[in-house]
Amino acid sequence: GPEGAVLELTGVRAGYGGGADVLHGVDLTVRAGEIVAVLGANGAGKSTLCRVTGGLLRCRDGAVRIGGAESRGDSAVARSRRGVRLAPEGRGIFAGLSIEENLALQLPAAEDREAVYARFPALAARRTVPAGSLSGGEQQLLALAPLLQCPPALLIADEPSLGLAPKVVDEVFALLAEVRERGTALLLVEEKAAEALGIADTVAYLAEGRIVWRGPRAEADPDRLADAYLGMG
Ligand code: ATP
Repeated sequence: GPEGAVLELTGVRAGYGGGADVLHGVDLTVRAGEIVAVLGANGAGKSTLCRVTGGLLRCRDGAVRIGGAESRGDSAVARSRRGVRLAPEGRGIFAGLSIEENLALQLPAAEDREAVYARFPALAARRTVPAGSLSGGEQQLLALAPLLQCPPALLIADEPSLGLAPKVVDEVFALLAEVRERGTALLLVEEKAAEALGIADTVAYLAEGRIVWRGPRAEADPDRLADAYLGMG
């Protein structure tokens, strides 16, 4: 495979139960330290791509190489041991647990939690309150902040900006860019293109389960891509 590939998908086909394929032979590479933004409309198969990469859904055909090793048959837990982290759509925090308890699940060392509080004073001020009482943006920052202390080899972020106000979206993307600076390669899946393009090195456009365009960010024109592929089929 390509030199320095953290993730290499080749000919990946996947779907649910006895249903038709949702992904129809996806090829995608994420190199060490790279941010690859996968853009696509609602229902294009973006979350399915995240699940297949994270090991939550088996692919029906094709290869999944993680850190150069064939991982298609590996479980989500086995992949997490190889440094793969999935940040699911909808944040993945526990609303009934306090901020401190949520952080402790990711960061057992108190000094790591203190580092998060130092960086995000809004969380520090409310460490004993239920995470569910935070705004959506604060919840997303709570979910992602531990990545700074424990940067994974590969982060799969499924629509991290979903439902957030524009100002918070900027903060979330700044945080993701900072995680990359610590050595994480990022598969960033987004429906809204503009913010994702701001931090991406490479862009891939997914339409109806196929990568229909890929290239460096500088060459990506999301409006033209959307015009060309939305409503296709
Ligand atoms: P969204 O932005 O809505 O999450 P998406 O691009 O992430 O869209 P997917 O969620 O991957 O798209 O869905 C792609 C297709 O797979 C859709 O037709 C959807 O109905 C189907 N699908 C997704 N999840 C399941 C599931 N758990 N069981 C059956 N079909 C599913």
